[in-house]
Amino acid sequence: MIEEADYVVCGGGSAGCVMAARLSEDPDKRVVLLEIGDANDRLLVDVPAGLQMVVANQETNWMYFTEPDATQNDRRVFWSAGRGLGGGSAINGMVYIRGTTYDYDHWSKELGCTGWSWDEVLPYFKKSEDFDGEDGPSHGKGGPLGVSQLRAMHPLAYSFMDACKEVGMGEVEDYCAGDIDGTFVNHATQRNGKRCSAAEGFLKPAMSRPNLQVITGAMVDKILFESNRAVGVRFTYNGKSRDIRVNGEVILSSGTIQTPPLLMRSGVGPGAHLQERGIDVVAAREQVGKNLHEHPSLPNSRLVYEPTYNVRNNPLILAREGLKYLFTRRGWLATAAVHAMAHVRSDPDLQYPDIKYQMLPFWADANAKGYFGADNPVPDSAKNFGITIGVNLMTPNSRGQILLQDTDPASRPMIDYRIYEDPADLERMRKGLKFANTIFEAPALAPHIKATAFPPDPHQSDEEWDNQLRACSATGLHPVGTCRMGNDPEAVVDTQLRVNGVDGVRIADCSIIPLLPSANTNAPAIMIGERCADFVHGNRR
Ligand SMILES: Cc1cc2nc3c(=O)[nH]c(=O)nc-3n(C[C@H](O)[C@H](O)[C@H](O)COP(=O)(O)OP(=O)(O)OC[C@H]3O[C@@H](n4cnc5c(N)ncnc54)[C@H](O)[C@@H]3O)c2cc1C
Repeated sequence: MIEEADYVVCGGGSAGCVMAARLSEDPDKRVVLLEIGDANDRLLVDVPAGLQMVVANQETNWMYFTEPDATQNDRRVFWSAGRGLGGGSAINGMVYIRGTTYDYDHWSKELGCTGWSWDEVLPYFKKSEDFDGEDGPSHGKGGPLGVSQLRAMHPLAYSFMDACKEVGMGEVEDYCAGDIDGTFVNHATQRNGKRCSAAEGFLKPAMSRPNLQVITGAMVDKILFESNRAVGVRFTYNGKSRDIRVNGEVILSSGTIQTPPLLMRSGVGPGAHLQERGIDVVAAREQVGKNLHEHPSLPNSRLVYEPTYNVRNNPLILAREGLKYLFTRRGWLATAAVHAMAHVRSDPDLQYPDIKYQMLPFWADANAKGYFGADNPVPDSAKNFGITIGVNLMTPNSRGQILLQDTDPASRPMIDYRIYEDPADLERMRKGLKFANTIFEAPALAPHIKATAFPPDPHQSDEEWDNQLRACSATGLHPVGTCRMGNDPEAVVDTQLRVNGVDGVRIADCSIIPLLPSANTNAPAIMIGERCADFVHGNRR
């Protein structure tokens, strides 16, 4: 095993795979990627419809639970995060979306992230991309990341979009060009009907390079410092502790939940918290682990007459779709979970939409069972076709934090997040859910609706909505912000992603995001990896 490297990348997820691939393009630099999970060589990762299974697998999903959340009836809320090469991009819903001009211009102008405006990040989105649709100014061709138009669209997705227009939304012509205000069909991170994770797109083609070593099953414990300069990384492999000397830089890409604990174990973090855990402080950085935020999420579902993807009890349909996928790479097994999207304002006076709708051609009763208990009035989703409008709040005000349980790298971090700490977040979610009722009732969708599903009474009172939100909300699967970028002295990383207070450490993952974009976060993570690699190469200042 290699003992010395120029760059060590800690974590092989969305951004980590980009970093390892891009940094090893220079044959004179030795790059090591350490990933705690496995290589993720799984058919269920490759086949888009395997999503449900890989999300339920502890080898591919960390399956965290939060600390009890007082704003959600003291529930310990389930949080997913990808594990193994590809990280989140290997188990995610494959929605490809970047965010808006406003999001990134706001980072740049208001949050001190100079150099991260829309015009400056767009070239990096395009650099990654291999879009299978028409060429245009917003898309890239020939990049490592397969971005595909949906290979099968459920007919009710078109009805959903028509209904959105009937209730006053516009149709967005090119949602990758910085405007998502209205309804549109999203693209998927796929190539020829197969999932294109960051491992598949970026890392696999680079694996044969002699200057790149990828070590799976490697749990990074800490960065080794001499004074404030990073000189190595300690990790556990096959039960033994090992050190790699680093001549260049250490790149942390362990994700929003695991990068702060890694920094803290290394002595970089809130001083008092580190001392409480018996850790020698290398640099007291109070913001490490803070500013955690997520997209709160709750489905609004209806039963419909047409068959939807609630077909797991129908072997004939499954066999037909299996054959179709085998021979054409098309059909239900090739599709991403989300078939259309829309963005709306919870308050008409808002300049930009703050609520995201994801149209799913299926529904699930799992949430409902927990909520309604033994007297469950909700139908069985294994036996009833349904569709869902998944409702997300894109710009939550509430903030949480990540804390260290103890100094053992195998211990789970503490996720301390009160999702509705700001009551305005609860109110905006409620408004978003109620407006989804209006979409279901619009002429284009109403004739397809057979019955209510979850909630059983969509016209329940505000108080009942709020109770349901507290009892059943999930996360939008997009945690960010725990190593915030900025140009203020408190920021964890500067605008070139260097960790403030130490030398030789950068962060490339969603933890650096100062404020959630109006988007799912895989494409942003990949863009962050692309930019960080350029910063390290010195191609950009
Ligand atoms: C179920 C799910 C569905 C999602 N759906 C979508 C979607 O449809 N579209 C979208 O855009 N986004 C989606 N996302 C979000 C998106 O995938 C993530 O935001 C993105 O993958 C995060 O990238 P990252 O590089 O920040 O971290 P990750 O991809 O999470 O990578 C972190 C990596 O570090 C590894 N690691 C952690 N600790 C250590 C350690 N100590 N030592 C070694 N390795 C370590 C992890 O195992 C992991 O592989 C989804 C996420 C999930 C979980």
